[in-house]
Amino acid sequence: MQFDRLRLTGFKSFVDTTDLIILQGLTGVVGPNGCGKSNLLEALRWVMGENRPTAMRGAGMEDVIFAGSGRRPARAQAEVTISVDNSDRVAPAGMNDADRLEITRRITRDAGSAYRINGREVRARDVQMLFADASTGSHSPALVRQGQIGELINARSQARGRILEEAAGISGLYQRRHEAVLK
Ligand code: ATP
Ligand code: MG
Repeated sequence: MQFDRLRLTGFKSFVDTTDLIILQGLTGVVGPNGCGKSNLLEALRWVMGENRPTAMRGAGMEDVIFAGSGRRPARAQAEVTISVDNSDRVAPAGMNDADRLEITRRITRDAGSAYRINGREVRARDVQMLFADASTGSHSPALVRQGQIGELINARSQARGRILEEAAGISGLYQRRHEAVLK
């Protein structure tokens, strides 16, 4: 599954609409302290369905909305869209009728999050499942946070095992088994 574009509006420090073109291969984000590198990575996780505020370095989910700075007032909404090349039809059945998938998550103060795939409203779970099997989900080892290499080296073997399971792409199976048990 290849991401090729990320669009942020009102997400954390990205108050104005910002488009990021993601090329094939390894992408590194560099820049001075506080310029928004970690915020970008968080936007990627967030649009894929991340629901833990702590993973977004916030106390509540609404903390991802631009909170205002200097003369710029706070926003009421944050929105992130990720564009995915689906020409190899890796998406699960039901969302597999298009060569390109645009996944959007929008959060509105006091109204929570809404998700869309190619303009059609879907559940958070649909988006999480879309990415769970592609080993690109919000917990994916393909997204390397600041300090994470050190954590991997210092991790206990069980924690390291979980990271390797993610890398092997089998953690999606656990999520599906969990779904099956719940049904
Ligand atoms: P470092 O190199 O120190 O890790 P970084 O490039 O990763 O820096 P980020 O942590 O992504 O930087 O960005 C931090 C900036 O984002 C801070 O200036 C902070 O005020 C701003 N920021 C975070 N959340 C919000 C928000 N909700 N509204 C406005 N600005 C925000
Ligand atoms: Mg950072």
